[in-house]
Amino acid sequence: MEKMLNIVLFGPPGAGKGTQSENLINKYNLVHLSTGDILRSEIARGTELGKQAKAVMDRGELVGDNIVIGMIESKLDENPYTKGFIFDGFPRTAAQAVALDDLLQKKGTGISGMLALEVDNEELVKRLLLRGKDSGRADDQNEDIIRNRIKEYNNKTLPLKNYYSEQGKFHSIKGIGSIDEIFKSLIDRITFIKAENDLTQLESDIEHLDMTIKDFDVADDIAPELLLEIDAIKRVEAEEEEEARVLRRQQKKKAAKKVKSLKSKVKSVAKKKVVKKASKKIVKKSAKKPVKKVVKKKSSPKKVVKKSAKKMVKKVVKKAIKKKVTPKKAAKKKKR
Ligand code: AMP
Repeated sequence: MEKMLNIVLFGPPGAGKGTQSENLINKYNLVHLSTGDILRSEIARGTELGKQAKAVMDRGELVGDNIVIGMIESKLDENPYTKGFIFDGFPRTAAQAVALDDLLQKKGTGISGMLALEVDNEELVKRLLLRGKDSGRADDQNEDIIRNRIKEYNNKTLPLKNYYSEQGKFHSIKGIGSIDEIFKSLIDRITFIKAENDLTQLESDIEHLDMTIKDFDVADDIAPELLLEIDAIKRVEAEEEEEARVLRRQQKKKAAKKVKSLKSKVKSVAKKKVVKKASKKIVKKSAKKPVKKVVKKKSSPKKVVKKSAKKMVKKVVKKAIKKKVTPKKAAKKKKR
């Protein structure tokens, strides 16, 4: 993010802060925050705050810190995306300066520099009285009030020079001369401030980069160790993979063997069953035929003749007995 340009335009009443602020906001595209202007608009709108502030302003005194700090806070919130601010007539007390730093810090920014327009007291009184004729501002028309405002400035506001000096942000600008001349001095100063800010930014970038480079150096140092470690891990992984492959192959073989033996078992059981069935059929079929055949085959023609002869003899004998004839007669009878 580009750094914001936040300028405190400092100086006693009548130093030309308002005029130069207008020039600066046009040149640098900044937001102008003038607590005096905000207070006057509150008075014009007849707000409660305006009513409270009017009496104080008419005496040439400073309005309470909390009021002006609150006003600035809300103006900062209203302009979150500005390139920067020109603070005109604020801060005017140490408490306001501290509060402003805090507010800006919360927004991730800060004061870039304080430009103090230096004008001697007599010149100020002259300018303010002149301005009072045109502006119609009550506090510009009365010399006592003007002197009171300058007194307030010297007592309460001037010490802020030290506050910003200590931070290396105080810049004195000769506030006497033409508006253009003073404007040019201000531009020169701001150019210097911007360059200084850029340099600070660059230094911090370099420091950051340095740290990054150091990180790389460390990474370089540990890189060989890391590579060895990575190699070792890869080797272990490869070994594990090979082991797993061998195991898988063994398991496959075992399974194939089992399938084979099961298949042969099934086959033999099936065979036995078929054989049993077949043999039962054969036994059934052959149970009748072979007996007849055997009888036929075994009994030779001679035996058959003998058997039938015997049968005939028995018959003849039985008949003879019945008719009471001798078997020989019975036989003769049958022949006839
Ligand atoms: P200015 O227009 O800056 O000269 O301010 C006009 C009057 O508004 C002053 O005399 C004060 O009474 C009041 N005022 C403006 N700014 C402030 C401030 N930052 N703190 C207190 N009072 C202020």
